[in-house]
This record gives sequence, structure tokens and C-alpha cells, in this order.
Amino acid sequence: MSSTTKDSIRDQNDDVYASVDLAASLPKSEFPEPERNPRNVFNAIRDELMLDGNSRQNLATFCQTWVDDEIRELMDLSIDKNMIDKDEYPQTAEIEARCVRMLADLWHSPSPETTLGCSTIGSSEAAMLGGLALKWQWRKKRAAQGLPADKPNLVCGPVQICWHKFARYFDVELREIPMEGDRLIMSAEEVVKRVDENTIGVVPTLGVTFTCQYEPVKEVSDALDRVQKETGLDIPIHVDGASGGFLAPFCAPDLAWDFSLPRVKSVNASGHKFGLAPLGAGWVVWREASDLPEELIFNVNYLGGNMPTFALNFSRPGGQIVAQYYNFLRLGKEGYAKIHNACYATAQYLAEEISRLGPFEILFDGDSSKGIPALAWKVKEGQNTGGYTLYDLADKLRSRGWQVPAYSLPAHREDLVIQRILVRHGVSYDLATLLIDDIKRALEHFKQHPIVAPLSEQEASGFNHG
Ligand SMILES: *Cc1c(COP(=O)(O)O)cnc(C)c1O
Repeated sequence: MSSTTKDSIRDQNDDVYASVDLAASLPKSEFPEPERNPRNVFNAIRDELMLDGNSRQNLATFCQTWVDDEIRELMDLSIDKNMIDKDEYPQTAEIEARCVRMLADLWHSPSPETTLGCSTIGSSEAAMLGGLALKWQWRKKRAAQGLPADKPNLVCGPVQICWHKFARYFDVELREIPMEGDRLIMSAEEVVKRVDENTIGVVPTLGVTFTCQYEPVKEVSDALDRVQKETGLDIPIHVDGASGGFLAPFCAPDLAWDFSLPRVKSVNASGHKFGLAPLGAGWVVWREASDLPEELIFNVNYLGGNMPTFALNFSRPGGQIVAQYYNFLRLGKEGYAKIHNACYATAQYLAEEISRLGPFEILFDGDSSKGIPALAWKVKEGQNTGGYTLYDLADKLRSRGWQVPAYSLPAHREDLVIQRILVRHGVSYDLATLLIDDIKRALEHFKQHPIVAPLSEQEASGFNHG
């Protein structure tokens, strides 16, 4: 045996943390030259990931951070399958089609068996597809009337960034209704002021990102009925149900927001938010097949069959779709309602406790008929906190691992800073009591160690002379 072979065999027996591989910093920029031991590299990467913090304590995200063992197994079984290869993996394709039909049924499509829809990587892609369908439908209508179609616009409330992307990438003017005073979401009245013959659609959000509230889809739909009566303009609605699409059907079944309103032509939702699928699952469904313009569907024959596809991506993992189907079968409406209602109860508990602390005013309290299982608050008008801000509170909670974001609102309420907690599957009531203890400890800390504003130059120089 050569001495180098002997060395490398001895290396294999080394403890991971005594190995040559981990005796130096691993490459960060240059493409690595040598091979390394998989076990050593795995451990180094796993350890680095610790620095991300604990996702379960991330109360900023709407996305799933808790996964059933069964879902892990199904993801593992699907890791080698590309969902776009519909001919090679016909059962994964069939499962996707079943999910679309089930969602069309859940959202009261008049023809859930035949309508169209697809999985996406998330609500952003789903929103792009929904927006594109609106644009194409509008353009066809304009062409049929011999009218120009070069200035499309879309009317919405304070939307998630994906709609800003849609507008810019696909050349559509975004008429975003600004917040005004205490009105932090769209109103039917403000929508009507902004629609015209170039409006491709109106997008209400079911669960606004900033304040977690549902926008009034029914009122907007009724108002657009009146617009049609008066002007002849027939303006469709796409609902951004990223969160609410998987909440309202189970926890607010009387809320009219979906295809039960004929004007709602399409809905997007994030499977990986309250759909409880692992990251990488979104859905878009059209009310009826005729609401998705044929021109947007590609028929691909080089994968073996002749498969219609409508998507921005091509290759994509199939596991999320399989896991989503597992959730639908495993939970049913009953299970989703139980899980989400537990989250609403925890959100309401947190809202009560936080309002009881004194300095804060609750803006949204986790009412299941008005929004998502979450809460948002601000510092009371005129409240003297003794120096700390919601940003300081967020920082202090971070030292215990909690991520509770503080942020300012968009136009025209940039002046208002709020803080928000998302309550998801796995954020238990008990965990919430521990968070409240930490918030109390943080406020006590600020009392004992007030955050003093830095002295102005004048004050500082006076201080020096004094
Ligand atoms: C999260 C969210 C999106 C974007 O969804 P992804 O699934 O993260 O792509 C869009 N709209 C709303 C209202 C959201 O909450």
C-alpha cells in the first residue's frame, strides 16, 4: 500500500470534526478543485444551515414550516420525478388534474369536471398566469370591437409584489388603490373610480400581505355589476387567494368571494401556505374552460404524448403536487377547518394578550370572517414608549429566536409602522404563551434600560461644557 492510500484510509476513520476537510475554511467563491468526503461536507453544510435560525419560530412567513412524516416520505418517493413529463409519469399528472378538479369544486366552479387550471411553483407564477389570461381575453374583446388594445390597466388594492412584477414584466398599468386613513384595503367605491374600457380586470386580495385582511370581493363584484349596467363595461375579477383560498372555504364558508360570484373568472392560491403543502406548490384555476384563452395553451408532443401546458416554468418537482393531494385526502374539509380554526383561536389569544400589555393598538385580531389567522398592531397614537419602537421590539425578540417583523405600510400610509404575527399549522397555543412571556420580558427590559435617542450636537456640546 502506498503511503497516500494509507493516509486516505486513515482519513476515512477520522471523526468529522477532526478531518482534514474541516480543518480549514471551505471554499466560498472559487470553484473547488479537490474531491471531499461526502460525510464531512454534509456535516459542514448542515452546521452552516443552523445559522438560518429556526423556521418554526419565523412568525413572519405565511409558508409551511411544519411537515408530516408522511409528506416527507411522499416527497422522497417523488424526488426523481419531473412533473412536466406528463407522459412518463401519468399518475403524477393525473393527481395534479384531480387536485385542480377538487379546488374548482371547493371554489364553486359551475363545471369543476371540465374547467381548466394547473399547479405552479407558488402564487406568484399562478398570479402571472391569471393576469395573462385577463390580458388576452381583454385584447380579444377589443380586437373584435375594432378598438385599440395598447393601454391595458389592472385595478387592485395594496397588493403583494407579484402583481407589481406582473404589471412590469407584461406591460400593464397597475392602478393600485392607496391606503387612506384607517382604510388599509380596497373599497368598492375606490375600485369604481379607477376602472375604464382598458381595465383587463380587478384583483381583490383575500388576505392582504400587510394587514392580513380580506378585501371585499362581493361588494366589488356588485359594484362592477352596476358599472356594467350603466356603461356596458364587463370587467372580470381575478381573486388573489394566496392565503384566503385555503382558509375561507373551511373557516368562513358563508363569505361570498369565489366562483359563486359569476364575475370571478380565476383564482390563485398558494398550496404551500394554508394549503399545508411543502414549499413549491401553487394553483391557478379558471371558473370555466372558456375563461382561459386557448392561445395561451401550448401542446407539447416531444415528451411522448400530446399534452396541453400553460406555465412559465418547464421542469419542476412533482412531490409538492403529490403532497398536496395527500393533504386533500388526509384532511378533507373537516381536517382543514380544525387545523385552521386552532390557528385562528391562537391568533385571537395573542391579539388579546398584546392589547392588554398597554402600549399597543390591535389593527387586525385574527377574526376568521375578516382575514387570515394572524394579527397586526401598532403603537397607540400619542403613546410614550420611553424610547423603543416596534423595530426595537422585533430586534429584542430575535434574541430569543422569534422573528416578528415590524415594517411601514405602503402608499399613502408610509408613516404607519406596524408589527405582525402569522399563526400557522404548528404555531400552538402553548408556544404562543411562551412568546407572550418573551414580549413581556422585552418590555420590562426596555423599562429597565430605556433606549435613549442620541443627543443632538447642540445637546452634546452643552453636556460637555456643563
Ligand atoms: C404570498 C403571497 C403571494 C406570493 O405567493 P408565493 O406563493 O410566495 O409565490 C401573492 N399574493 C399574496 C396575497 C400572498 O400572500
